[in-house]
Amino acid sequence: MPKCPKCGTKIDRLDYYGNVTIVYFASLDAQGRMDYDEKDRVEGDGQNDFECPECEAVLFNDEDSAIQFLKTPTPTEKEEIIAEIERIRTFLLPPAGETVTQEDAASAEEALDKPADKLKGIGEGEE
Ligand SMILES: [Zn+2]
Repeated sequence: MPKCPKCGTKIDRLDYYGNVTIVYFASLDAQGRMDYDEKDRVEGDGQNDFECPECEAVLFNDEDSAIQFLKTPTPTEKEEIIAEIERIRTFLLPPAGETVTQEDAASAEEALDKPADKLKGIGEGEE
């Protein structure tokens, strides 16, 4: 299941705001008032938005992108943690050749929330 890139919620569907014209039969009722009876719906060519149902961010404007997004496989817990470690490492650790100070290491460890403990046990006894 993909995650909304804006709010991070796992979503398996999108809200679709389609531009539609409704065609009615317009006729007079017994009291002589106009009566509208829906006949057809015609797709318009205005903005067609695919939005996140949680945060309502417009994520896509075309069906192909929305389909690709919804096909995104759910990352495993291990994959998510590895991606998070990679993300934090990119921000916190100095480029190769630079010295890591004691404070750098401490803040990285804190930010990573002890990844070694988190990874322990994952993949064991699952599925
Ligand atoms: Zn969202």
